[in-house]
Amino acid sequence: MLIPFPTDWQTALVLVPHPDDPEYGVAAAVAKWTTAGKSVAYALASRGEAGIEGMAPAEAGPAREIEQRESARIVGVASIEFWGFPDSAIMNTVELRAAVTEVIERVRPQVIVSMYGGPGWGPDMPNQSDHIEFAAAVLQAYDALDDKPRWLFENSPEATHVEEVGDHVETAVQSLAAHRKYLSVLDPDTPVNDQARAQVEMATAAREDYDNQRVVGFELKRRSR
Ligand SMILES: [Zn+2]
Repeated sequence: MLIPFPTDWQTALVLVPHPDDPEYGVAAAVAKWTTAGKSVAYALASRGEAGIEGMAPAEAGPAREIEQRESARIVGVASIEFWGFPDSAIMNTVELRAAVTEVIERVRPQVIVSMYGGPGWGPDMPNQSDHIEFAAAVLQAYDALDDKPRWLFENSPEATHVEEVGDHVETAVQSLAAHRKYLSVLDPDTPVNDQARAQVEMATAAREDYDNQRVVGFELKRRSR
C-alpha cells in the first residue's frame, strides 16, 4: 500500500553523489515542492568530473557544475553546493560522513532525500558503487545525529511513499536537459531533449497501484519523533 509523500514540512535537503542524480530521479517532485512554496537544497559529494567521456576531469568538473546549477535553478532549488569528493571513487569515509553531518546541521531540514543504496533498480540495472557507498554514509551520519531530521527517504525502486507529479514532468524534463554537454556525449545520436524526456517519463511512470498517476517513488528509511 503506497502512502502519499508527507506535506507537513517546509525544508528538504537532497543529498546525492553526482550531478544529474537529482534529475534522473526526483526533480519532478522537487519542482512540485518548490512550486508549493517549500524550500529545497541540493548537496552533491562530487562534481561528476569522471562522467564525460573524452573530456579531462579538470575541464569536465566545472562544466558539469555549471549544468547542475542550471538544473537546480529550473526546479526552484534555493541553494546548491559541491563538496569535491572524487567522482567514481566515493567511499563511505569519516570525511564523507562529516560532510553529511555538517550540511544537515546547517540546513536543518525536516526531510532528507538521499540516493538509493540498494543493489539494483532491476535485473539488468545494478546500482553504482558510488551510490551504494554514498547512501550508506548518509544513513550512518543520520543515525549518529543527536537532533535528527524527521524523515529520511531514498529515491528507491522499493517505494513506500509516492509524490504525484503529473503537472511537473515538463519542468523535470527541462531540468535534466540542462545537462546538455553531458547528455550530448553520453548519446550523440539522440537529441538531448528526447533523452531527457525518455528518462523523466521512466522516473515518473504512472502506477497502476496508485490510480494511474505519474509519481516519483520514495522509500522511507528513517523516521524520528
Ligand atoms: Zn550518480
